[in-house]
Amino acid sequence: MTDLLNPDDALQQLLAHIPGPTPEQVPPEQATERTLAVDVTAPIDLPPFANSSVDGYAVRSADTSTAGTTLEVVMDIPAGTPPDRTIEAGQAARIMTGAPVPDGADAIIPVEKTNGKWNHDADTALEPQVTLNDAVSAGANIRPVGENIRKGQQVLSAATMLRPQDIGMLVSLGVAEVKVYRQPTVAIISTGDELVPVGEPLSPGKIHDSNSYTIAALVEANGGVAIRMPAAKDTLEDVRDLFHEALAQQPDMLVSTAGVSVGQYDVVRTVLDELGEIGFWRVNVRPGKPLAFGNIQGKPFFGLPGNPVSAMVTFDIFVRPALRKLGGMPDDTQTHTAITGEDMRSDGRRTYVRVRLEEKDGTIVATTTGTQSSGALMSMVLADGLLIIPEGQTHVPAGTALPVRLLR
Ligand code: AMP
Ligand code: MG
Repeated sequence: MTDLLNPDDALQQLLAHIPGPTPEQVPPEQATERTLAVDVTAPIDLPPFANSSVDGYAVRSADTSTAGTTLEVVMDIPAGTPPDRTIEAGQAARIMTGAPVPDGADAIIPVEKTNGKWNHDADTALEPQVTLNDAVSAGANIRPVGENIRKGQQVLSAATMLRPQDIGMLVSLGVAEVKVYRQPTVAIISTGDELVPVGEPLSPGKIHDSNSYTIAALVEANGGVAIRMPAAKDTLEDVRDLFHEALAQQPDMLVSTAGVSVGQYDVVRTVLDELGEIGFWRVNVRPGKPLAFGNIQGKPFFGLPGNPVSAMVTFDIFVRPALRKLGGMPDDTQTHTAITGEDMRSDGRRTYVRVRLEEKDGTIVATTTGTQSSGALMSMVLADGLLIIPEGQTHVPAGTALPVRLLR
């Protein structure tokens, strides 16, 4: 047995403290990849009127024959213009693609099957007669009312991430304001005397602050808006100032990396105690056992480990679902079963192994991406997924089937 928290229980507990999403209205051009907040039903039929799918002549199909027919051309119907008369027996109307089909006509014959002269570049004068080279059947080349969608039918359901075609459909239906969920803003905080901003040279003992970029990218990939703060030095004042600056941005959530290791004296913990109600959780996962969670001035706060892989893995397990709840986005986790391609070990915690996936003879084989050090981000760069060794399983022989969380 272990006194460490079960990761699933930990997730459920912390999700209970995450508020649900807030809807807002945005114009369609701002709605791509946003999460729809409501079910949308069609307020109109699409197309709203029967129209021609070709450039040709609107005719009564009964008038046509394979032997050829000559009809009187009584009207010209460009797109966008309603016809002003009915087609009687022996009559035809010249009609453009997308133009309304006139009453009386039940088929369109394409211009290529007539002797009609049709020049798109010039305004071709209407010939008084047209000869059809073929017969057409009723309904030919007509897009009927509601062919696309019927008024009252459901078009899209809430929690859909809007794709380009969805946006086009909403606009086709006349939706000028789309109700989507507001994108949660997330302040990202890094601390450490060793951290140097990218673009500055590394002096001895220094590393670049990569975590704030990785976390910002993860936030954006999960529908949030990242507010990346510059890294603070390991002094009480600096860290306190940084948290205040972050709060001044009025984020919906705060995520920090580093400085929360259990047992270690760290100024971050002092500041967290001053500003919020934070619990230090010992979750049964590897990498990334130390995890702080709580709220700062009512906003959810996650304190992730500093090691780059630990920060990413704990984000994936805990922050991602919380952020997606806040933004109203459904879980998009993709899991495959893979066969381990080598012996693997764990210390008994639920272990997330960075693996590469390869298909061999119809099965997916997982092999580790080299060193599994929680500081070695290259193990993530090479990884297709995180293979999950369950709690209590310390030795996994090659050939074992285990779940793999796919990484993007
Ligand atoms: P700490 O939790 O402060 O002890 O940090 C653990 C490890 O993570 C150390 O090796 C740090 O140098 C590294 N680390 C902390 N913050 C960052 C960061 N923002 N970017 C890259 N590495 C970091
Ligand atoms: Mg540190």
